[in-house]
Amino acid sequence: MRIPEALAQKRPFLSLEFFPPKKREDWPDFLQTAQKLAELKPLFVSVTYGAGGSSQDKTLDLCRQLIETCGFTVMPHLTSVLASQEKIDRFLEAISVMGIENVLALRGDRPVGNTAPDAELFRNFPHASDLIRHIRVFNPNLGIGAAAFPEGHAESLSFSADIAVMRDKFECGAHFGITQLFFDNRSYFDYVERLHEQGVTAPVVPGILPVRSLASLRFTLKFCNARVPGQLVNDLLDAEEKKGPEAAFEVGIAHARKQIQELLDRGAPGVHLYTLNRADMCARLVEGLL
Ligand SMILES: Cc1cc2nc3c(=O)[nH]c(=O)nc-3n(C[C@H](O)[C@H](O)[C@H](O)COP(=O)(O)OP(=O)(O)OC[C@H]3O[C@@H](n4cnc5c(N)ncnc54)[C@H](O)[C@@H]3O)c2cc1C
Repeated sequence: MRIPEALAQKRPFLSLEFFPPKKREDWPDFLQTAQKLAELKPLFVSVTYGAGGSSQDKTLDLCRQLIETCGFTVMPHLTSVLASQEKIDRFLEAISVMGIENVLALRGDRPVGNTAPDAELFRNFPHASDLIRHIRVFNPNLGIGAAAFPEGHAESLSFSADIAVMRDKFECGAHFGITQLFFDNRSYFDYVERLHEQGVTAPVVPGILPVRSLASLRFTLKFCNARVPGQLVNDLLDAEEKKGPEAAFEVGIAHARKQIQELLDRGAPGVHLYTLNRADMCARLVEGLL
C-alpha cells in the first residue's frame, strides 16, 4: 500500500518507527514486540537505516520479517551519506522486488569518527532533495517521505531557510513529511502554518517520543537539539527527586499523551511514534486516544 494514498483515507492514524536490534539473537524478542504492537493497527511502520554503518543490510532484512510476521505496510529509511548512486539503486531495486511501495528519503549524518570533508561525504547526493529527485525518476511509483524539522535542523542557518528546504523536498517529489521529535506542540503548529504560507499542503506527520527519565532526556538531547518546556523539566526533576525514576517515567508518558491528544484535536493527520522497540510504552501512549 502506498502511504500517500493511505494518509488521505485514514485519519487520524498511528504509525510506528522501529530500529533493527543490534544483536541477531534479540530479533525473535523484537518480532514478538512488533506482533504486540500490531494490535494498535498502525497505518504503516518504518525501519531506520544506520548512516554509513552497521545496520543497513539489517534494515531490509527486518522489513522483510515485519511484512512476513505482522503483515505491516513497511517503509524503510534510506540515507545517501557516503552512498554511490549504484548502492542507492540496488536498495531501491531490492525494495521493489520485496513489494515495498514507500521509502523515507534522508541525507543522513556524518558517521561518528569520520573526518572526511562534506564534499566527499555528500558527493553524490548533497541534500535529501537530490535523493528524492533521483528516487522519483528511478521509480515514479514509490511513495516518498522526507524528514521535517519543526524546531530547525541543527545545521540550518535559520528557521526560514529550513522552511525553504522542506518546500524544496516536496517540490522535488516527496509526498509527506515526518517530523523530528519535539516536546512543545507550538513548534509543530507554527511550522505547519509556515509551510502552508509557502503553498505546501502535503501532510506533515508529528513524531513523538516520551521522556522516560532525566537520563534518557540527556541522551536524546545529544543527538537531537529539541527544546524542552521548562515546566516539563521541573516536573521531571520534582518526580525523580521526590519519588524516583518510575515517577519521572509517568510524567513523561502523561506529557506525551497530552501532546498526542492536542495534536489530533487540532488537526494533525496522525501521530508517528518513536517506539524504541517497546510495546508497553507505546500502548500506554495511545490508549484511548486513537
Ligand atoms: C523522521 C526522521 C527519521 C530519520 N531516520 C534516520 C535514519 O534512519 N538514519 C539516519 O542516519 N538518520 C535518520 N534521521 C536523521 C537525519 O538523517 C539527519 O537529521 C540529517 O542530518 C538530515 O537529514 P535530511 O534528510 O533532513 O537532510 P537534508 O534535507 O539534506 O538537510 C540537511 C541540512 O542541509 C540543509 N539543506 C538541505 N537542502 C539544502 C539546500 N538545497 N541548500 C542548502 N542547505 C540545504 C538543511 O537545512 C539541513 O541543515 C532521521 C530524521 C528524521 C526527522
